[in-house]
Parts: sequence; C-alpha cells; structure tokens
Amino acid sequence: MTHIYDLIIVGTGSVGAATGYYAAQKGLDVLEIDAYTPPHTEGSHHGETRIIRHAYGEGGAYVPMVLRAQELWNELASMTDRPIFEATGVLNAGPADSEFLRTVRETADSYQLPVDEYNGQTVREKWPSWNLPVDYRVLVERGAGVLHSQNAIKTYIELAKKLGVTQLFNNRVVRLDSDSDDNVAVVTEQGMYTGRRVVVTAGTWVKELIPDLPVQPTRKVFAWFEAESELAAKNGFPAYTIEDRDGTQFYGFPATNGTIKIGRHQGGQSITSPTERVPFGEVGTDVDEVNQMTDMFLSGVGSIAHGESCTYDMSPDGDFIVDQAPRFENITVVSGLSGHGFKFASVLGEILAQEAAGIDVPFDLAPFRLKRF
Ligand SMILES: Cc1cc2nc3c(=O)[nH]c(=O)nc-3n(C[C@H](O)[C@H](O)[C@H](O)COP(=O)(O)OP(=O)(O)OC[C@H]3O[C@@H](n4cnc5c(N)ncnc54)[C@H](O)[C@@H]3O)c2cc1C
Repeated sequence: MTHIYDLIIVGTGSVGAATGYYAAQKGLDVLEIDAYTPPHTEGSHHGETRIIRHAYGEGGAYVPMVLRAQELWNELASMTDRPIFEATGVLNAGPADSEFLRTVRETADSYQLPVDEYNGQTVREKWPSWNLPVDYRVLVERGAGVLHSQNAIKTYIELAKKLGVTQLFNNRVVRLDSDSDDNVAVVTEQGMYTGRRVVVTAGTWVKELIPDLPVQPTRKVFAWFEAESELAAKNGFPAYTIEDRDGTQFYGFPATNGTIKIGRHQGGQSITSPTERVPFGEVGTDVDEVNQMTDMFLSGVGSIAHGESCTYDMSPDGDFIVDQAPRFENITVVSGLSGHGFKFASVLGEILAQEAAGIDVPFDLAPFRLKRF
C-alpha cells in the first residue's frame, strides 16, 4: 500500500530544512527531498553567512516575522555547538533622504528596536575605516547581526532526522500531480511519493515545478577581500548595508580570518538555466560590481582573495511569495525571496509547519500573496 506522508518538502535548503524540523516537532510524518545534499553550493544559501536586520528597510510588514525568526535562530543556536548567530550589529547608511533608511528608523521606533543614529562624519569617530559622505544618514542596529547559513541548515537537517523525518537527498523532483483523493503525488528521478500536503521550497528554479510563478532567476556575485584587523568582528566592526546616491545597495560582513565579504544587492544577470550561473569572474562586470563599494566608502580593504556566484529568485516587486500554488490546493509555495530571505528561513519554516498541522498562523501574510501581481 502507498505510504501517505502528512507533509512532503520539495527542496530542503534554507526554508525547507527549517520546515522539516518544525513540522516533525508538531508530530507530522514528514519526507524531505532535495536534488542535492544540503547545505550545498547549487542553491542560494552558500558563502557561509547572511545578514539579519530587524528594523527593516524593505517594509514594516516583515518586522513581526523577523522578530519571531530571531527568537527561533536563538533557540536553534542553543541546540548546537556550531555558530548560528553573531550579534555583530548592522550599520545601515545612505543619503539623508533615503526611503530605505526612513523605513529603518520608522520600524525601529514602532517596535522599540535599539538603533543609534550617526552621520557620515560622526560614524568615523567610532569606525575610522568608513569614508561615507558627511551628509549621509547612518543607523546602527545593535541587536542585529550575522547568521551562519550553512551551519543552520545542517543543524535543522540533523535535528529533523533525530525526530524521525525521512530524508531523500540527491533526488530531483521532476513533477507534481494531484491524485484522485486530493493527495499530491511528488514524482522524482527515483520514484513517486504521496503527501496529504506538499510545500515547495525549491528556491531559484521553482518554475520548473510551478511554471505560473512570476519568479526571475538572477545570477549574483560576492567576493572576499583581504582586510585589515580593524574591520574584524572581534574588534567590534559591524555588518552593513550601504546605499549609493543612485539607490544602489551594497552589503557586507565584518572580517573573519583576514577577509571581508562584500556584495551588491541590485543588478546581476537574468538567467534561464543553472548552467548560466557561471563562476565568479566569468562575466566581465563581476569584479567592478563588488569593487565599487570599497572604492567609494571603505578603507582598510585590499585585493580580492576569491569570489563566488549565487542566485536570487526575484519576484516582480522584490517582496516574498508565500501562497497556495496556482492550480494545486494542497501545495504551499515559498519563493521570490529576492535576495533577502535567509533571515526569515526559520520563521517561514515554522509558518509552513503550522499550516500543515492545521494551526492558525499568527502573521498577516496578505502582503505576500500572489494576487498582488
Ligand atoms: C549572494 C547572496 C547574498 C544574500 N544575502 C542575504 C542576506 O544577507 N540576508 C538574507 O536574509 N538573505 C540573503 N540572501 C538571500 C537568501 O540566501 C535566500 O533568500 C535564501 O537562502 C533562499 O532560501 P530557499 O530555501 O528559497 O532556497 P535554497 O536555500 O536555495 O533552497 C532551495 C533548495 O531546493 C532544492 N531544489 C530546487 N529544485 C529542486 C527540485 N526540482 N527537486 C528537489 N530539490 C530541489 C535545491 O537543491 C535547494 O537545496 C542572499 C542570497 C545570495 C545569493
């Protein structure tokens, strides 16, 4: 007789790994599937670290979720010896009239989040390496910091396994079908599996399974630069998002082991297949893209030690998609995380697990529904 899982997770990366753990915690019979063995370098979660900010320039709708996400990251950190979260603080800087910074300030005020305000001049008294224009607005969120993305996924997968989750890795899902009993048939390269519910947390290439989604795969690069010790986390240097006068945003991390990681949020190349995600340096603009920030704003940074390429799953407005999959009643999809989703992986996993267990989700997900497009 066919085994019917309560929940099948298609894509056990950032969001999927968290979902598996929280669903098993709620007593569900769970199958996790992935095309590779996560964590790995073929999705959007590699490169060791991701920034978590709470005072959220992308909009107030995210704040309740990110605050819950932080609680869950702290809880995860307490269950492993691996580093999961470092409270480095996050410095957000940009022109005085930046909408992003205005929203950071507003959300900090609304949720009483500790944020210190500087300008381009006063911030140098604290961190002399910043060469920001004097009229820049600088908001430093003390409680924010850096997540260790690969460690987090590895830990969720281990914890899920201990709770009895079935794990089927190196097995690509090729098709999703509804069967006559309203269950979902998940067809993989190695066999077919049946679930009462399915979540599709497949990241960039989600359209191979749900073609109707408005998600654009985008190649992005980031690079590690040689860095002086005053840029090190252990010397109090924070993570950062820096906006240029034309609205371009750069982000980066404090130095560890003598290198500092930097990327640019906008731009990159729209791609249509994983083979187009060529390594760092193979697209003519790669080096310029990551060099711009240090040339303009940060001293104490040397040459590029190495770089990597990765992908964003861009939605048309840069906001998340969390919704029922078009034409599939029992499938929920999380996608379109648009390059800022890792910090939410824990809470999105909890939300998907609550939904699968029939528990009310305590967040307003209306801003993330597909009907907005
Ligand atoms: C360079 C870069 C910097 C970033 N910086 C930040 C940051 O500072 N802060 C932040 O919050 N976010 C950041 N992000 C975004 C964040 O990393 C992503 O939003 C997040 O990791 C996406 O999670 P996911 O679960 O959707 O995808 P993934 O973690 O990629 O997981 C998707 C999984 O699905 C699997 N899969 C796909 N298709 C199939 C299939 N057909 N069958 C089986 N398995 C399949 C994949 O193998 C993969 O394991 C950054 C992203 C990049 C690329």
